[in-house]
Amino acid sequence: MKTVYMDYAATTYVKPEVLEEMLPFFTEKFGNPSSFYGISRETKMAIDKARGQVAKALNCDPSEVYYTGGGSEADNWAIKGIAAAYKNKGNHIITAKTEHHAVLHTCEYLEKNGYEVTYLDVDEEGFINLEDLKNAITDKTILVTIMFANNEIGTIAPIKEIGAICKERGVLFHTDAVQAVGNVKIDVKDMNIDLLSLAGHKIYGPKGIGVLYIRKGVRIHNLIHGGGQERNRRAGTENIASIIGLGKAIELATENLDEHIKKLTVLRDKLIDGLLTIPYSRLNGPRGDKRLPGNVNVGFEFIEGESILLSLDFEGVCASSGSACTSGSLDPSHVLLAIGLPHEKAHGSLRLTMGDGTTEEDVDYVIKTLPPIIERLRKMSPLWTDFIKNEK
Ligand SMILES: *Cc1c(COP(=O)(O)O)cnc(C)c1O
Repeated sequence: MKTVYMDYAATTYVKPEVLEEMLPFFTEKFGNPSSFYGISRETKMAIDKARGQVAKALNCDPSEVYYTGGGSEADNWAIKGIAAAYKNKGNHIITAKTEHHAVLHTCEYLEKNGYEVTYLDVDEEGFINLEDLKNAITDKTILVTIMFANNEIGTIAPIKEIGAICKERGVLFHTDAVQAVGNVKIDVKDMNIDLLSLAGHKIYGPKGIGVLYIRKGVRIHNLIHGGGQERNRRAGTENIASIIGLGKAIELATENLDEHIKKLTVLRDKLIDGLLTIPYSRLNGPRGDKRLPGNVNVGFEFIEGESILLSLDFEGVCASSGSACTSGSLDPSHVLLAIGLPHEKAHGSLRLTMGDGTTEEDVDYVIKTLPPIIERLRKMSPLWTDFIKNEK
């Protein structure tokens, strides 16, 4: 059966060019970079080359790039590490209600340990209000952490404006850019970003590898203690093959950025328009260039997102009802609640995310496959039957 993968925001495949660069580092080039012989120097040089590739993509210095075990670790490190290092300055952190759980749950953990966190509201498209941000900053604020692009509804935040506000007020700015890298142009200098998280497996690189960019001059405590790797800031023998893969993946992602955005925007808008012809449907998140190029999130009234997923899976379509981390739980998505949807509407939402492997044929297939599924599920829904009765 045909498989149509539309869950690129959950993870991507590893590109063949990326895998090819990684392979020798599992076998002949296996030396520990901390040792003193030929094969070790070779791995050390390869790690530094990858660091340069990451630095180029972000417009920072290679010495500001630190490898982590993924996006979640980078978020944890940024927030906990800044909280500890700036404890004497203050105990207040500002974030938004629509952040990834790697940020939200870290902030909740800090709240249990003497910190105060402001969770900014967002509007119906998922944007924070910049005046709210300005008003929330106090002389106790040490960190603002706002995601670059939302993984569920695709909202791209006004990062440069947020960075400017933080700089003016002397507050550090961290952004979770896991979804933004390879989909939006990023420049940490121009955007006044002090710390930035990214992950390999969302940009056609391997899983379990990420980066935290830390601007020179920012003080931060370590999260992982041990050996002196990563210039004494992140202990543990380097995940060499994955680091090499991440370097190649981010290079490819930024080289082809304009083309990638153009292609995915066309597919995205075609899919959105096709799905919105279904009655009682609604787009979650903004339209246009403030939305991630490959993100579609549509709500269908009177039915459950989970039952749509089951039916789509039966037709070979891989999709998501929210973020992969929340599937399996019956709570509706915190992002959809934050943009103001009532529980029942938040439950009936479907996220389809596209990427480099997506074709127009895939989009047409989903546009053709979904309407009869929605119709069938509604016929079985008591909410729908009641609604139709009342209409008459
Ligand atoms: C996937 C994701 C993460 C977590 O990254 P991992 O590498 O899976 O730990 C964090 N933030 C956002 C926005 C994500 O999409």
